Amino acid sequence: MATPSTDTTRSAPAPGTNAHHALAAHEVLLLLETDRRDGLSESEAAHRLERYGPNQLPVVDTAGPLARFLRQLNHPLIYVLLAAGTVTLLLRELVDSAVIFGVVLVNAVVGFIQESKAEAALDALRSMVRTHARVRRDGQVRTIPSEELVPGDIALIEAGDKVPADLRLIEVAELQVDESALTGESLPVVKDEVVLADSTPVADRRNMLYSGTLVTSGTGTGVVVATGAETELGEIHRLVGTAETLATPLTRKLTAFSKLLTVVILGLAAVTFAVGLLRGERATEMFTAAVALAVGAIPEGLPAAVTITLAIGVNRMARRRAVIRRMPAVETLGSTTVVCSDKTGTLTENQMTVRALWTPHHHYEVTGAGYQPDGAVLDSGGAPAALDTDQALRWTLVAGALCNDARLDHTDGTWAVLGDPTEGAMLVAATKAGIDPKNLRDELPRVASIPFNSERKYMATLHTGSDGAVALVKGAVERIVDLCADQMGPTGRAEPLDREQILAAAEDLAHRGLRVLGTAHGHLASEGDFDVEAIRGRLTFTGLHAMLDPPRPGAIDAVRSCHTAGIDVKMITGDHAATATAVAEQLGILTGDEPGRVLTGTELASLTPEEYPAAVERASVFARVSPEQKLRLVEGLQGRHHIVAMTGDGVNDAPALQQADIGVAMGLGGTEVAKEAADMVLTDDNFATIEAAVEEGRGVFDNLTKFIVWTLPTNMGEGLVILIAIVLGSTLPILPVQILWINMTTAIALGLMLAFEPKEAGIMQRPPRDPQRPLLTGALVIRILVVSAVLIGGAWWVFEFEQTTGSTAEEARTAALNLFVVVEAFYLFSCRSLTHSVWHVGVFSNRWILAGASVQALGQIAITYLPIMNTVFQTSPISAGVWLRIFAVAAATTVIVAIDKRLRRQLAWTS
Ligand code: ATP
Repeated sequence: MATPSTDTTRSAPAPGTNAHHALAAHEVLLLLETDRRDGLSESEAAHRLERYGPNQLPVVDTAGPLARFLRQLNHPLIYVLLAAGTVTLLLRELVDSAVIFGVVLVNAVVGFIQESKAEAALDALRSMVRTHARVRRDGQVRTIPSEELVPGDIALIEAGDKVPADLRLIEVAELQVDESALTGESLPVVKDEVVLADSTPVADRRNMLYSGTLVTSGTGTGVVVATGAETELGEIHRLVGTAETLATPLTRKLTAFSKLLTVVILGLAAVTFAVGLLRGERATEMFTAAVALAVGAIPEGLPAAVTITLAIGVNRMARRRAVIRRMPAVETLGSTTVVCSDKTGTLTENQMTVRALWTPHHHYEVTGAGYQPDGAVLDSGGAPAALDTDQALRWTLVAGALCNDARLDHTDGTWAVLGDPTEGAMLVAATKAGIDPKNLRDELPRVASIPFNSERKYMATLHTGSDGAVALVKGAVERIVDLCADQMGPTGRAEPLDREQILAAAEDLAHRGLRVLGTAHGHLASEGDFDVEAIRGRLTFTGLHAMLDPPRPGAIDAVRSCHTAGIDVKMITGDHAATATAVAEQLGILTGDEPGRVLTGTELASLTPEEYPAAVERASVFARVSPEQKLRLVEGLQGRHHIVAMTGDGVNDAPALQQADIGVAMGLGGTEVAKEAADMVLTDDNFATIEAAVEEGRGVFDNLTKFIVWTLPTNMGEGLVILIAIVLGSTLPILPVQILWINMTTAIALGLMLAFEPKEAGIMQRPPRDPQRPLLTGALVIRILVVSAVLIGGAWWVFEFEQTTGSTAEEARTAALNLFVVVEAFYLFSCRSLTHSVWHVGVFSNRWILAGASVQALGQIAITYLPIMNTVFQTSPISAGVWLRIFAVAAATTVIVAIDKRLRRQLAWTS
């Protein structure tokens, strides 16, 4: 935490004051003992980090361990158990009461551990998506984790960033910030660096940037004046319990369902109690019977199983590089019907190599691959290009190299680009032609720039040379042509602009799947003439760069896999339609050339609201689309009842990401704004990861369904056995404590293991799940009823068999208890696939289930044969013959379920 220092040997900066807005930038720099150009030194930064602590808001966890433990007791079922335990205690049924309280305790402990684990997992996931800040240290621009920012750091900010600390601006260019996190005002605020009056309120301090706000456009440089808890955000808004809940629409529905079930069952239990009393039974016995009914019939394992299944799903997705930010996404993923993906960087590698160059009179091929500047620019005769004989080529390469913010980095023998790959490729091309970008930058220093953005689709820079001010521009060909009055000939002289020829050449290159950028050059009378309006129509076109960006390995397979899974893949790109079409064909997104499969932004804009949804549903490639159009695209598809996953990385993508059913942001190349808006973040920016996440999402849903299909027959069976016994006025075939034993042990040792069930083969060969479809189809409800009937029939049979052959009531009940557990264990294996037989999935393919079943078996042996357990649970050892009958019923259950599955499969084939 920041405390002004009293250290006199090293005079301290004064981040404690908060009137930085009322000081001139140089005064703030002085106060914080930092340098505008060089920033802090690494050693000073380390020293300050130690003094002020990391740049983090302290997380205040409102719920301590005890509160979290007690929260586990806040469940209708637990109230029932607590009430039952207390009444049994008052009735001096000490053993029953101890068991009931024991169960409550075990339940709470399991719930506590499981919740803590799930939250820890989510926390870990959140930290996988870390924010970074760009700072100047020791004169170099460095990217550091945001937590390491210290007062005095010079931070560089650009559109898409989340402001990492409180900053006093010292330089701005078109900077606009969404400060709604702080002020609630959602309109972006324009920033500048002028000095303000001391009394200016926080919301009006235009020369300050506040931590947690989002930069919507422009760039800026600022000096960090406060970090961590000292920031405005830290002051007014201590981060309270940011931990996300594990709730999803489905878990909420299930919780509501189990609450309703609890009420119904309690009502039923009350009726049972009353019926018993009317029949003249003893009140205590009837009470315990009613408790047994309630405890048996309520599926208490359900909430825990659902949460664990979801948490395991989230972890599996994270292992496959998809980080879930909002839990409902886990569920929605399984229902996705359309994936709209950006092209560059997601479907392709974003590893650009210039393959061809074109000037109005010549065509060149460029050899070599990657960012290594080995290769050459060859003319149509195969000879190295001579820049002297084609000035247009020279200026094309110069514009590419100078109107450029990227740098090439050569470390450990490998070449890499720092910055935009498109720009990196242009630096490499210039180097291959013998131009040294570094020398060029010295010859023609840059004095101003108009940054690239997806709307404008070009970038422009202004340089001062020996013969005056020179503007250099690069960008989308049609935009560049619009800026030009003429074109450059081989001698460097201007000639009339042949617009058609240029666009045709660009189109030809784009058909090869190459991304084409045009360049232009212009002499300006004065530096003041340099702005978007002033350069329009005053430049000279020089030539084209055409670059290859190969499809990502794995993307073609992932697209194919989506198609077999009934998921449509649509490519969205700012690139030219011809480039996009060629790349989409390579990826298998486009096959054949039906009309309407490729739409451009202009075509989209001209569609009527009636035509729109059908047209966007039919198209697979959207080219020259602006981020704003993505939002309408999502809405159009949703209008056709699609569940849409949409990728995005920029600030302008945020509305579309929010609107999409699954907003997918890029972890590596994405802006903080996009990540904030997204439901899922890809840590590798890879399209194949979306497909993997969908697959996992389907797996999660399968496992949830499997658990429910497994647990319900037991609950129904147990409840009904008791109900029938009371209605018939016969001895209870199973006691409340025994039911508690069955429910608690099987839910943990058997049921939960289904959450670890691997995905079934063929999971991506079926259509997406209709979100409207109920979790349990008619077929599954029938199966649940059949298995419940087998359980009830089996339990009665073994119980009666024992009773009529002279066994004690304890022996008969032990037989019934074991029957329940053994049938459940056998049925668990059947539930590992809802459609295929146990043999098909492999009996031994889920080791967790084998381990769980073994633990359960030991438990059953203990409860049947250990004298102490016999006393507590009122059981008794049983003979081999009984076991034989029990296993016969369990085997019969497996056969019946297998027959049911086979009949369903045949029905599905024939229908
Ligand atoms: P995708 O949407 O597939 O990710 P993209 O993000 O590459 O595509 P944009 O970045 O919006 O699309 O680029 C659109 C067009 O703008 C490109 O086709 C290119 O002509 C031009 N362009 C791209 N990057 C730059 C840049 N750094 N400077 C100037 N122009 C650029």
